[in-house]
Amino acid sequence: MKFPAFAYARPATVEEAVTLLASDDEARPLAGGQTLLPILALRMSMPSCLVDLNDLEELKSITVGDGVVRVGAMVTHAQNLASAEHRTHLPLLSAAVRHVAHEAIRTRGTIGGSLAHADAAAEMPLVVTALEATMVIVNQQGERRVAASDFFGGHFTTAIEAGELLTAIEFPISDHRWAFEEVARRPGDFALVMAAAGLKLNNGACESARITLGSVADRPLRATEAETFLVGKSVTAGVAAEAAQIATQDLKSHGDIHASAEYRRTVAGTMVKRALTRAAMEQSA
Ligand SMILES: Cc1cc2nc3c(=O)[nH]c(=O)nc-3n(C[C@H](O)[C@H](O)[C@H](O)COP(=O)(O)OP(=O)(O)OC[C@H]3O[C@@H](n4cnc5c(N)ncnc54)[C@H](O)[C@@H]3O)c2cc1C
Repeated sequence: MKFPAFAYARPATVEEAVTLLASDDEARPLAGGQTLLPILALRMSMPSCLVDLNDLEELKSITVGDGVVRVGAMVTHAQNLASAEHRTHLPLLSAAVRHVAHEAIRTRGTIGGSLAHADAAAEMPLVVTALEATMVIVNQQGERRVAASDFFGGHFTTAIEAGELLTAIEFPISDHRWAFEEVARRPGDFALVMAAAGLKLNNGACESARITLGSVADRPLRATEAETFLVGKSVTAGVAAEAAQIATQDLKSHGDIHASAEYRRTVAGTMVKRALTRAAMEQSA
């Protein structure tokens, strides 16, 4: 189908972009267009105006300082994949972004667009949840910060309000060792199930654990009971299996045309076990 008619604006600054968005409730930001343009073509959204963010150079950088990696909202998946800073400081992001779509889509698609769209089967929502990142959101009144744990409100729903722009994501540099696991039907497809595990070990014992599941609910889920279970233990294959069982025993996943709820729950257990085992090996390397 053809796009519906819409106005088009190409602001040169964040301030100008936010003014445009605030002046029209039906205006929408355009980032890489990899999701928004197909949605327009299907007439699932009919914005009055597209506010193109592609000239906002201030949203395109990756900076490291004060224990934080700050990633601009317009940084593309391809830039994140190529980033040496991420390989050093955010290995989980480097590992997960490999699974985002295909090269052509990664070249245009942005981390900000992915988070604002909030597809529960997308990798970046899981990454920001696992790494306890902070979303930087700008509106006409100024800047506000939202923790990843409060950012996702369900399928395609976030804390970004009308007239607001996600400008950056701040990742605290973690001293956990990370592993990421995903099952998708084909390479580049959205995840059927994914899991991230982060372990901080002290003399072989787990001091802190983070387990996050994705594509099993309407938003990424932290498995806090399993995280607590691991503290003080040596993460052997048996302990990882027990943690995986705890992480998934009460999981009320959803079934859809891609996979049944039972499939998702079973595979989520396997993903958690594998991710924990790999993260534990990373630490001892
Ligand atoms: C064939 C195909 C396969 C894909 N596979 C995957 C996959 O496996 N995993 C995955 O994670 N993704 C996948 N994607 C989606 C891809 O990652 C997109 O890049 C991403 O979802 C949207 O990013 P974008 O920059 O293109 O955003 P756009 O399409 O431009 O925008 C998406 C939405 O976010 C809003 N928005 C954009 N930027 C901002 C901002 N800074 N502040 C506020 N709102 C904003 C827009 O208004 C729009 O509603 C796939 C896409 C396609 C077409």
